[in-house]
Amino acid sequence: MRPIIATFIMSCFVFLTGCGQSERQGEVRRWMEPNGKLKVLSTTAMVNDLAKEVGGDLVDAHVLIIGELNPHSYQLVKGDDEKFNAADIIFFNGLNLEHGPSLKKTLYEKKNAYGLGDLIQNDYPSRILNVKNELDPHIWMDVSLFSEVIPHIVKAYKDKDPKNGPFYEERGRLLRERLGQAHAEVKEQLAQVRPEKRYLVTSHDAFNYFARAYLAEDREQKGLSWQVRFQAPEGLAPDSQLSAIDIKAIIDHMMKYQIHVLFPESNVSQDSIRKIVDAGSERGMKLHIARCPLYADAMGPPGSSGDTYVKMMVYNAKTIAKHLQASEADAEKQECP
Ligand SMILES: [Zn+2]
Repeated sequence: MRPIIATFIMSCFVFLTGCGQSERQGEVRRWMEPNGKLKVLSTTAMVNDLAKEVGGDLVDAHVLIIGELNPHSYQLVKGDDEKFNAADIIFFNGLNLEHGPSLKKTLYEKKNAYGLGDLIQNDYPSRILNVKNELDPHIWMDVSLFSEVIPHIVKAYKDKDPKNGPFYEERGRLLRERLGQAHAEVKEQLAQVRPEKRYLVTSHDAFNYFARAYLAEDREQKGLSWQVRFQAPEGLAPDSQLSAIDIKAIIDHMMKYQIHVLFPESNVSQDSIRKIVDAGSERGMKLHIARCPLYADAMGPPGSSGDTYVKMMVYNAKTIAKHLQASEADAEKQECP
C-alpha cells in the first residue's frame, strides 16, 4: 500500500475509534447522572433489551458487553467498576455464560445482581440443557424459554420501586405477549423447511436451544434425539483450536445428513468453518459458507437486522430457513433477509 494512502486510512481509523470511544464515554456519564430513574446495568445486549422494554421510561438501561465482544470471556476493564457501583439493579445471563474471572466474581458478590438464567433454572430445571456435562447458557435462542426471565425482571423492579409495580407488571405482560408472537413466527419460518433438511451447523455450540425448539420435530423434543439437528465445531465458548477428531466428526455428520451449508456467526472468527470446508473438499464434498452471519452471542449494531432481540431471532430464523430450503446449487446465491 502506498504510504500516503496508508497514513490517510490510519488517521481515519484513529479518528473514528477515538470518536466512538468518547461518544461511548459521554453515554456512560449521562447514564450515571442521577435523574430519578432506576439505573439498570445488564451484561449482554439480549438481557438489556428485555430490561429496557419492561422498564420503559422509568429506567435508564445500560449494557456492559458492547458490540461483538465475547460474553463468555469478557473481563472487567477500566471504568466497569464505576458502572457496577452506579447501578441500582444488575441483570446478567448466568448459567456460567459470563465466566471471565473478574466479571464472574463481581456478579456473584453484588447483592443487587440477578442471574436470570439461574433463576429460570430454579423454576424449570428440566428446560435447561447440559451439553457435554456443562450447563448451556444460550437460553435466548429459544424465545419461549427466554421470555421466562420477564417475571424476574418485573419482580426486581417492583422490589426496588414498589409504587410503580402496576406499570412494570403491565409492560412485562405486553412483552411476554410480543415474545409469544415472535416464538410462533420463528417456529413458522423453520416449519417451512422439510424435516429431512432441518439440520444446522454453525461456528460454536450456541444453537442447542434453537435446535430443540425450532428444528426438531415434536416427538424429538422430549428425549435427546433433537441433538442431531445441530452441530458446531467449537464448544460452548468459541475457541478456534480444532483437533482433527473435531473436524472429522463434523464432516461425518454433514455427510450422513447431507448438509451442505455452514453458518458463520457475527462475532466469531470464520477460521473453524473454513477448516471444515477445506477438509470437506478433500473428501469430495462441496460445502458452502452462508453469506449472512447469524446473530449468536451478540446482537447487531443500531439500524441493523439484529438491533433488537426479537429482530435478531426473526432474522436468524429467516436466514436459516432460506439457506436450508435452497438447493445445493443455489446455496451460495442466497441473499440476506
Ligand atoms: Zn456462546
